Amino acid sequence: MNPPSISSCMDDFDADSMLPAEACANIQAAVRPIAETETVPLGEALDRVLAAEVRSGIDVPGHANSAMDGYAVRGQDLPADAPASFVLLGTSFAGRPYAGTVEARQCVRIMTGGIMPEAADTVVIQERVRASDDGTAVEISVGETSGQNVRAAGEDIAAGSAVLPRGRRLTPADLGLLASVGTARVEVFRKLRVAFFSTGDELREVGEPLDEGCIYNSNRYTLDAMLRRLHVTPIDLGVIRDDRDAVRQAFRDAAKQADAVITSGGVSVGEADYVKDVLGELGQVAFWKVAIKPGRPLAFGHLDRACFFGLPGNPVSVMVTFYQFVRPALLRMAGGADSPPLALKVPVSTPLRKRPGRVEYQRGVLSRDDRGRHAVARTGAQGSGILTSMSKANCFIVLSLEQGRVEAGELVEVIPFEGIT
Ligand code: AMP
Ligand code: MG
Repeated sequence: MNPPSISSCMDDFDADSMLPAEACANIQAAVRPIAETETVPLGEALDRVLAAEVRSGIDVPGHANSAMDGYAVRGQDLPADAPASFVLLGTSFAGRPYAGTVEARQCVRIMTGGIMPEAADTVVIQERVRASDDGTAVEISVGETSGQNVRAAGEDIAAGSAVLPRGRRLTPADLGLLASVGTARVEVFRKLRVAFFSTGDELREVGEPLDEGCIYNSNRYTLDAMLRRLHVTPIDLGVIRDDRDAVRQAFRDAAKQADAVITSGGVSVGEADYVKDVLGELGQVAFWKVAIKPGRPLAFGHLDRACFFGLPGNPVSVMVTFYQFVRPALLRMAGGADSPPLALKVPVSTPLRKRPGRVEYQRGVLSRDDRGRHAVARTGAQGSGILTSMSKANCFIVLSLEQGRVEAGELVEVIPFEGIT
C-alpha cells in the first residue's frame, strides 16, 4: 500500500492500516442506492432526492416579455441619424397584454414582465424617450439597439428540456424552479432509516445521576443530530450493555428495521470482544485499522440487508469518522448524486503539531480578517475525547499522511462542516 521508503520514516504509521481514501472507496463500492420511491407534494420536497428526471412541459418565460419599463417597438424602425416620433397605441402590463400588432413607427407602452406585442422585438427604456405633450406619441433618439431589453420565450427553460436530474437533492432554488414549470408533485427516494446505538457499561443518560467512573452518553446526541442533518430517519436504539445476549438482540432488532446500523464504541483493540464475535456470527463485518487521526479502528460490513458501521467510541472520533466514511455512504444509499464536500486551501494562523503516518482531521476555525482574507486557526487541544475542540470548530484541517509539523502561514486544506445550512 505504501512503499517502505515512505512508511519507514513515519513514526505514527502502522503497516497494517488502510488509507482513509481506500476505506472510503471500499465502503462506497459496497453500498447501493435504495430502490423504493414515493411521490410527495412540492412543498414537502425540500432536501429529498429526486428519483426521476423532471422535464418541463412549458417554456419559461412562456412569451417574450420586457425586462424594463419603456416602449416596445420594431427594431427595424429605430432611427439611424435623427430622432423620430412613434405613435403610441396602448399599454402592455405584466399579466395584461396589449392585443394588437405594432407597425412601422408605432410603439406600445410596456411594463417589466409585460408580454411583447405582436411584431415588436425591442424595448426603449422610458428614461430615454420624450413623450409628446398630448400623450399620443413618443420621440426616440439615435443610439438604441435592435432587440434590447427583451427576455426571450424559453430563455430560462425551454419546453421539453430537462429541469433537474435524477439524484438531485432538492434545494430552495430547485423548489422554485420546479414551481416555475408547474410541477405540483415530485417522485423522490423514500427516506433512509438509520438505526444507531452506543455500547458501554460506563454510559449514563442526561437526567440520570452520574455514578462513580461513569460518563454521560454524548455520542447519542451527536449521531442523532448528524443523521437528521442528512435528512434520514434516525432510529435511536439507546445503549447496549456489555453483555453478549443484549448485543446479539440489539443487532438483530436494528438490522430488521433499518437500511444502515451505526454503533459507537467497542471496536478498539482488546475491548468488548463480544461485539466482534456477535458481528461475525450474524453478518459479514470487517475490522479495519484506518490511518486516520482521530478514529483509527473502524468496522464495516453487513448485518442481513443493512449495512453496518462500527465507529470508535471517543466523541471526536465518532464525528470525524461519521463525516469521512458514513456521510458519503448514506448520501449514496439515499440515491443522491456524488457531491464531495468543498475543500479550500487557506493559510493557517498558528503552527500545527503533526507526526507523519496518519491523515489527521484537526479541528479549525475558518474566518476572514478585516481585509477579507481567509485563514484557519486550530481549536486548542486536539485529543479525541475533547469535544469542545469540535464544538468550537467550523471546519476540519485535513493534513496528509506524510505531512509533519506545519508552520504558521503555510497553506492547508480545510473542509467546512458548519455555517452552511
Ligand atoms: P471504546 O471504543 O468503547 O473503548 O470507547 C472509547 C472511549 O469513548 C471511552 O473513553 C468511552 O468511555 C468513550 N465513549 C464510548 N461511547 C461513548 C458515548 N456514547 N458517549 C461518550 N463517550 C463514549
Ligand atoms: Mg466501550
